[in-house]
Amino acid sequence: MPAKKVTVVTGGAGFLASHMCDQLIERGHRVICLDNFITGKKANIAHLLGNKDFVFIKQDVSRPFKIAGRVDYVMHCASPASPVDYLNYPIETLLVGSQGTHQTLELARTKKAVYLLTSTSEVYGDPKEHPQKETYWGHVNPIGSRSVYDEAKRYAEAAVFAYRRTFKVDTRVVRIFNTYGPRMNMNDGRVVPNFICQAIKGEPLTVYGDGRQTRSFCYVEDEADGILRLLFSSEPGPVNIGNPGEFTMLEFARQVLKLTGSKSRIVHEPLPEDDPKQRRPDITVARTRLGWEPKIDLEQGLTRTIAWFRSELACAGKKKK
Ligand code: UDP
Repeated sequence: MPAKKVTVVTGGAGFLASHMCDQLIERGHRVICLDNFITGKKANIAHLLGNKDFVFIKQDVSRPFKIAGRVDYVMHCASPASPVDYLNYPIETLLVGSQGTHQTLELARTKKAVYLLTSTSEVYGDPKEHPQKETYWGHVNPIGSRSVYDEAKRYAEAAVFAYRRTFKVDTRVVRIFNTYGPRMNMNDGRVVPNFICQAIKGEPLTVYGDGRQTRSFCYVEDEADGILRLLFSSEPGPVNIGNPGEFTMLEFARQVLKLTGSKSRIVHEPLPEDDPKQRRPDITVARTRLGWEPKIDLEQGLTRTIAWFRSELACAGKKKK
């Protein structure tokens, strides 16, 4: 039997990366998961902790660290990723995108491993091109409050391509669009946990601005599958992985109300600074070069996510009593 492939996943206790840990183990990998739990959660990986193919190391990857033995793949997924989280942790977000990217690129270089950076649709900022293709350079406010995330990821992409050119590291860059599903943090301030929890609790749904801004939501299993397809391909990217189904936030609020059967009202609150007005991935590259497209539509994905949030809220309610 050939030895199992070893994959290091930074931020592996986060929402999306924990699903990638699951899929890697299903595909026969050994996973070394690094996380410092500033936004990741032990609960997201609790089911993996007894698995002989899963190793957890508590580590801030912005600081130097060493991994013993063979490493075949390095996936740098660590970063606060919701606007509320990266505004709460602005310096940590800058550091994990800059120093964390260098630490992990060095790991890939010394281990001769394939390297993947999870970048973001935020590199397109408030886009002037719609839908967004990978060739679009973006429209980012370099000093706005969101810039700690947007510019850190833009810098990280530049670092990846510099290592590719200079040291011939075999790299991939994925640009992730809005992703949702079980294990989202209910307090991270994103629209999906906010609307679902508000609807279940019978509280008003807080639509920011006039609600005409759009997002395109990809179910987490589809997203993780697309990212792994990129990892195992020879495509350097950047490649957009997301679901092109586009909705205004008002449409999205009504869909959540319908699927939860909630009687909650919709209220309007101020729009956050530099909130992108529209976002939809052009996934031609993913379709043609990776043979990937999302399979789970918004209604199916939301139904599963709502069920998960209902049980989380029920557990939280029991703990309080
Ligand atoms: N949003 C909203 N109500 C909320 C949370 C977010 O209307 O309670 C809006 C937000 O202004 C943005 C969109 O929903 O236009 C998506 O926000 P999110 O924080 O989920 O992610 P983003 O795409 O901005 O990173």
